[in-house]
Amino acid sequence: MTAFDLTGKVALVTGGNGGIGLGMAKGLADAGARVMVAGRDADKNRRAVEALGRDTAAVAVDMAEESGCRAAVDAAAEKFGRLDILVNNAGINIRKPPQDYSLAEWHSVLNINLTSLFVCCQAAYPHLRARGGKIINIGSMMSIFGASFAAPYGASKGGVVQLTKSLATAWAGDNIQVNAVLPGWIDTELTKGARQQVSGLHEKVLARTPSGRWGVPEDMAGIAVFLAAPASDFITGTAIPVDGGYAAQG
Ligand code: NDP
Repeated sequence: MTAFDLTGKVALVTGGNGGIGLGMAKGLADAGARVMVAGRDADKNRRAVEALGRDTAAVAVDMAEESGCRAAVDAAAEKFGRLDILVNNAGINIRKPPQDYSLAEWHSVLNINLTSLFVCCQAAYPHLRARGGKIINIGSMMSIFGASFAAPYGASKGGVVQLTKSLATAWAGDNIQVNAVLPGWIDTELTKGARQQVSGLHEKVLARTPSGRWGVPEDMAGIAVFLAAPASDFITGTAIPVDGGYAAQG
């Protein structure tokens, strides 16, 4: 067993049927984990399982509901007999100026990006505590920076980082490490929408990212394996950018 070996471990990746979640799920599966992906779209779920290969499965749930979050955790533990790794990745954005959001829109973004993440952590806790475990929460560059078109999203992603710290301190004694990953601009369905709605975004991202390119979901595999593996056992409560240097650029 190496410091990066996940053989025998079971992971749940919310929103693991596409984009960043699928990139992370692939990394975990390649490192030996059995992986359950959770998303609403049964067709995307099926295609993700095909792409991930053996010892993977999917569950169709709506994480807007508390019951959907709990059902995803139960599905992973029941299918594979244990749960060691929780990747809280499901997320949405609604883009408009702050003054134009309805309260329902505000709540829907906070609900998926922050509240459902908390519910999944709560539901996973008894399983993770049994043998020690890992939680990986997906933040954003908007955990750090403001964006004029993403007030509830930024609030939710800032909350993810603070919640990560609280859970890390609360559960360190249970040998559960809780960390956040802050992706830079990654080419996914979510950011296709952003590029359509925010004029000049594509070029602005290229100009600001020292690596000179948008990220791809495969760029997220390594950090997922690292934060899920024994290699990171003394790392908890952090928020790690995976951004081609975006956050380092003045
Ligand atoms: P995608 O839109 O490609 O994927 C979002 C995933 O979340 C899908 O798998 C979707 O599955 C799932 N999801 C959304 N709503 C629900 C719901 N109500 N119930 C269950 N699953 C749901 O986006 P990305 O891959 O880009 O984003 C993944 C995460 O990374 C998000 O948290 C996002 O905020 C974050 N992020 C993305 C960045 C980027 O540049 N792409 C940058 C920084 C952070 P389904 O449609 O089947 O429900």
